[in-house]
Amino acid sequence: MMRRSCFVGAYEAVANRTRSTNFSVAAYYNLRLSSTTTTTTRVTKIRPAFRGSIPATTVRNLSDGGGGGGVGDGGEREYEYDYLVIGAGSGGLASARRASTYGAKVAVVEMGRLGGTCVNVGCVPKKVMWNAASIAETLHDMKHYGFTGYDSDAISFDWSFIKQNRDKYILRLNSIYERNIANSNITSLRGQASFQSNHTVSITPPGGGGGAPTTVTAKHVLIATGGYPTFPPGEGIREHAISSDGFFELEELPRKAVVVGAGYIAVELAGVLQALGTDTSLVVRKGKAMREFDDMVSDTLDEEMQRQGIQIVRDTNGVEKIELDEGEEGTKTVTLNNGEVIKGVDTVLMATGRSPLVESLNLPSAGVTQTEGSGHIVTDELSQTSVDGIYALGDVCGNVELTPMAIAAGRRLADRLFGGPAFEGVKVSYDNVPTVVFSHPPIGTIGLTEKQAVERYGEENVKVYQSKFANLYYGPWQVEADCKPKTGMKLICAGSNELVVGLHAIGMGVDEMLQGFGIAMKMGATKADFDACVAIHPTASEEFVTMFPWGLSNQVTGAKVNPLNGAANAEPIL
Ligand SMILES: Cc1cc2nc3c(=O)[nH]c(=O)nc-3n(C[C@H](O)[C@H](O)[C@H](O)COP(=O)(O)OP(=O)(O)OC[C@H]3O[C@@H](n4cnc5c(N)ncnc54)[C@H](O)[C@@H]3O)c2cc1C
Repeated sequence: MMRRSCFVGAYEAVANRTRSTNFSVAAYYNLRLSSTTTTTTRVTKIRPAFRGSIPATTVRNLSDGGGGGGVGDGGEREYEYDYLVIGAGSGGLASARRASTYGAKVAVVEMGRLGGTCVNVGCVPKKVMWNAASIAETLHDMKHYGFTGYDSDAISFDWSFIKQNRDKYILRLNSIYERNIANSNITSLRGQASFQSNHTVSITPPGGGGGAPTTVTAKHVLIATGGYPTFPPGEGIREHAISSDGFFELEELPRKAVVVGAGYIAVELAGVLQALGTDTSLVVRKGKAMREFDDMVSDTLDEEMQRQGIQIVRDTNGVEKIELDEGEEGTKTVTLNNGEVIKGVDTVLMATGRSPLVESLNLPSAGVTQTEGSGHIVTDELSQTSVDGIYALGDVCGNVELTPMAIAAGRRLADRLFGGPAFEGVKVSYDNVPTVVFSHPPIGTIGLTEKQAVERYGEENVKVYQSKFANLYYGPWQVEADCKPKTGMKLICAGSNELVVGLHAIGMGVDEMLQGFGIAMKMGATKADFDACVAIHPTASEEFVTMFPWGLSNQVTGAKVNPLNGAANAEPIL
């Protein structure tokens, strides 16, 4: 257990905060103004259309007889569209826009807001709130750098202020997406799509009340319908708990919250709430959160969440029931399956799982195969489903549920279908995908955990390098060494060439350091390659290229691997 004295003072203050609380200072208002200006400028700089970056030679007019289009041999259009994309989220929009750059006739069907999960109830609003939480943490730290004023009433945080501005930002993104669709010559169809057959889809207009369904036909149909948050069974859970979608609708900062779940969404949202002043408990079924990550990462996260002041309620086996307390406060009592009871809770947030959004698609009528149980759509590595002409990618397939993965898969599919011979058989690789969890501090991970590496290559062929330290940022803090937040880093190498097969980090700044290491690993970097890259000092990332013992590994480079078009990972020399 983390010692209570390690909660570095500032966190204690946070636990006592009320909903509309005090931070500071004139400077804060200046920041508010200048940040508005910056955001506006950045938004207008977003590239108007992707078309311009495709080499002219690859843009072909499919209606002139190019492969993959919807035109029959006699010159008559057999289908209304070459490509119908169901779902205007990360994967769907990327695929549609790419297809249109090749001259395909494309339509996108969307039943909700453009941009899908990531833009509306995922990555984007989450990162905005993580930024807010990071500012709160920096304010906690200011006294360690000689600033005063944190404890004064002049510093305040207004949840509704950031919520309103976050919502406005997302509305702007929605309209940018709308413009991008129009600029790309893509037909935007609004409503809920449902298969009538493999080339025919009916679209029910949104809102329930209006209009008869329309029917469209397409030669190729992509299912990119994403997923939705689910609730476990249990008395009062559906009635009194919210999901991550509900988190983004909260109008005020809860005083006391229970976050249920052990995955990245639970960890991220619990971290945001606690940093902004909510008394937060994280309820996990088993011993700790993020159990599927490398133990170094999940153990360090556990310590750091406690240091932050989050109460981790372990081995609960989940929530048994949620009851509304008597009185006008609207608080709840949460009873866990291990008998523990948490009282006086404003917000119960269930982040216990997501399911593919497939019910309304009427997949049996098209004959598309789904996995038993979860209902994810089954595809091969080319995003091809069990039915000719129907493809699926992104969260609806349950394979690496991340926005950039859906985007990459979507673009590659469009390349393959409409890009001509140069793109025949192209695909993406689902291996060595860098992942960041926006916890406090953030986590970054690529490739195999130590356990996975040992299982795959045998203990005798795996070598682990690791390091744990306090970031230089905490150097001048006059607190016991044990009380300083920790950074943990781990390199997992396999074979006599010491190929780097796993890279894991938790600590300040790792979110922004991971991308470059991801490229190195895709290219087959070895420990010797890492050591050969001269360190950047003083940074935390230098630790990865100076791991002890430095420079003594077999001097074998891994720089021979083609990382393109879904090529297999480099292999250790066993
Ligand atoms: C809280 C949270 C935080 C996240 N944070 C990150 C992060 O930091 N980084 C990251 O990479 N990923 C993150 N993700 C995951 C990321 O959002 C998803 O992996 C990504 O959005 C998946 O894209 P997609 O194209 O598969 O589906 P989506 O983006 O979900 O798009 C699917 C679209 O299809 C529409 N649709 C569904 N059914 C139909 C139908 N029948 N007819 C018409 N339209 C339909 C939906 O309305 C939706 O707009 C986060 C997710 C959540 C929930």
